[in-house]
Amino acid sequence: MGTLHKNYISGEWAAGQSEIENRNPSDLSDLIGLYAQASTDQLEATLDQAAAAQIEWESYGIERKYAVLNAIGTEMIERAEELGTLLSREEGKPLAEGKGEVYRAGQFFTYYAAQTLRQMGENAESVRPGIDVDIRREPVGIVAIISPWNFPTATASWKIAPALAYGNAVVWKPANLTPASAVALTEIIARQDIPKGLFSLAMGAGSAVGQRLVDSPKVNAISFTGSVPVGKGIAQSAAQNLTKVQMEMGSKNALAVMDDADLDLAVSVALGGAFGGSGQKCTASSRLVVHQAIHDAFVEKMIAGAKAMVVGHALQDGTQIGPIVSAQQLQENLDYVALGRSEGAELVCGGQRVEMPTDGFYMSPGLFIDSSNTMRINREEMFAPLAAVIKVGSYDEALHVVNDTNFGLTSGIVTRDLARASHFRRHAKTGCVMVNLPTAGTDYHVPFGGRGDSSYGPREQGSYAAEFYTTVKTSYISSGQPS
Ligand code: NDP
Repeated sequence: MGTLHKNYISGEWAAGQSEIENRNPSDLSDLIGLYAQASTDQLEATLDQAAAAQIEWESYGIERKYAVLNAIGTEMIERAEELGTLLSREEGKPLAEGKGEVYRAGQFFTYYAAQTLRQMGENAESVRPGIDVDIRREPVGIVAIISPWNFPTATASWKIAPALAYGNAVVWKPANLTPASAVALTEIIARQDIPKGLFSLAMGAGSAVGQRLVDSPKVNAISFTGSVPVGKGIAQSAAQNLTKVQMEMGSKNALAVMDDADLDLAVSVALGGAFGGSGQKCTASSRLVVHQAIHDAFVEKMIAGAKAMVVGHALQDGTQIGPIVSAQQLQENLDYVALGRSEGAELVCGGQRVEMPTDGFYMSPGLFIDSSNTMRINREEMFAPLAAVIKVGSYDEALHVVNDTNFGLTSGIVTRDLARASHFRRHAKTGCVMVNLPTAGTDYHVPFGGRGDSSYGPREQGSYAAEFYTTVKTSYISSGQPS
């Protein structure tokens, strides 16, 4: 039997109505622990407590809020090795990526700590003489945060940190596949000088705890990252209560490789963008749009590069691709391999389940060639270590293919031509554009988000996060005396 890890409800650690097991996808014999599943009553109680706590937190003063956020971020950065190991153990990304994620998550807290001291308003002359206008941002109230498993600590942190910094209460429903990282972050937050009930951890199934949160009229704003179908359902539920929403829902990102590209750079950018994190990134480049003049040489080097990538246990030295997160996700990936073949694309390497000394969900990175942009493997988010090459005859065709998608999170181009790079940057219909860089990999102090089915609502991260986590108040002030 594993240790039971509890929820954090109304400012207390609480057992749930049931428990789930959390197992290491690199080694299914490794039971990480048991994790409580919150009940409906617990959710209601913690939402009520959050309302009172939010009012107290709002009046804390900016230096006190700064200290809380800074302490959380500093501790995460200091414990990145330990917490990153736990993250890699439960999610399956290679250890260096797990540590890097926790370090980055800490930076979100230290960044938003500083933002608490930078909350400036505006003022204006009224059109009426003798009246001043004051414009400032106030907290929205209670924010429900629903986060995915692929970046269990970073995604949650880039939502929790600004929510708290701008004066809100938080109820967090993490993905049930990665509860250990959620408990670890909650333990740090719970030790801080915050009002009782300001921050809650409510683990449980999305269809139960998540849906209940989304339906609750007590929630003022919902920040979600996950799949498009769930996101659309959340938007519909939120509309019933006119709850503010912010959603990031993945993508089908394309990397354009031009005939003038530095070939080695293009291959390294494509390998990292397509297969990093086992392709389980909303920013992964699963479409490789390659100019015909460089196509054969590019494909040859990609095959060699993909075959050389070391698939293995997430915590083992040298592993570059850890296991897939779950049996279900692995099966879906293998189904996409079969689908791609049936659609007429040629699988030139990988894309297979791999046996390892430990029982886990291992899969080799797979590359398709001879694919077209109309195939389902090029239209649906696979979330797998799979990429498909689409051959094009010109830059114009490449740009058209890159933009021919329902999504629009990131896109990239590899070229030595400044004019092409500039044109691409202006005309790519995505929220983020990368020039000579992988489509995955973004900073924490600038906005992140996309277009189309990728995002809905205000941008995340950087100072732009204020748009979602605050509401604007305009005050008119008269001295009461004739001017
Ligand atoms: P989901 O969208 O199902 O899950 C994301 C989060 O939403 C989880 O915390 C989940 O809870 C929760 N959730 C699920 N249903 C509801 C609901 N009805 N109301 C409220 N919350 C809910 O994604 P999956 O994890 O199932 O992954 C499926 C696919 O989604 C992936 O293959 C990938 O294509 C895409 N995805 C995209 C991500 C991105 O970064 N944009 C991240 C993750 C997935 P729980 O899982 O605990 O039940």
